[in-house]
Amino acid sequence: MGETIKLTINQQEIECEKDQTILQVAKSVGVDIPTICFHDHCTANALCRICVVEVKGARTLIASCVAKVSDGMVIETHNERINRSRKTIMEMMLSTSDLSQSPQLLDIASAYHADENRFNDAERRNPPIIDDNSMFVRDYEKCILCWRCVQVCAEDAQYAFAINFKGRGYHTQISTFFEKPLTESTCVFCGQCIGVCPTEALKPKRQWLLELGYESDQIMQMTRNERNKKTKKPQTSSAEK
Ligand code: SF4
Repeated sequence: MGETIKLTINQQEIECEKDQTILQVAKSVGVDIPTICFHDHCTANALCRICVVEVKGARTLIASCVAKVSDGMVIETHNERINRSRKTIMEMMLSTSDLSQSPQLLDIASAYHADENRFNDAERRNPPIIDDNSMFVRDYEKCILCWRCVQVCAEDAQYAFAINFKGRGYHTQISTFFEKPLTESTCVFCGQCIGVCPTEALKPKRQWLLELGYESDQIMQMTRNERNKKTKKPQTSSAEK
């Protein structure tokens, strides 16, 4: 066992090991802090800021997924300032991205009473769906730029380095180098990016086609024999969205 320290979380005095993050220690004593960009198997980058907490003496709210605990720290994980910050983050996400297929994010939005109409003038992101291979589609209208897919594609798991950010500010998007189709990138179609995506921006092609109303045998034909062919919505189907 490593060196132990004492600190306070939400008025509760606890003893814990050094070299842990605030998020890890809070979780170990049953304190729930919401997370979005954080994933147990990815490197934490403090991008979304939903996990911020208040540390006594700190000038700003602190991202608990990356900040390490220290002896004597006094931490609050839920108060008016923190809750307002989380609410605003969710309102900004709701104003630009399609979160409709992300129950996890909708639950957080609901828990913090986020108003989806607060930023009515915000310009929504609505790039076209990218359907350039037979394995999965990319719908960046749903992307919240959490970076998880980039990480698992790189040093956190696959070392394929097929995707990264492109653009700046509002125009930032996940992309391949030179925006090439995935089939011309270093992608090995392992599917790990789909596994960590919290919004269904990345979706297995089969699931996407089923949702569009295609039958299994049609999908088999399309994905095996018509690779890379542009997919059209069927005219007759009860399962159409
Ligand atoms: S595609 Fe999914 S995993 Fe990748 S950055 Fe966007 S939301 Fe995150």
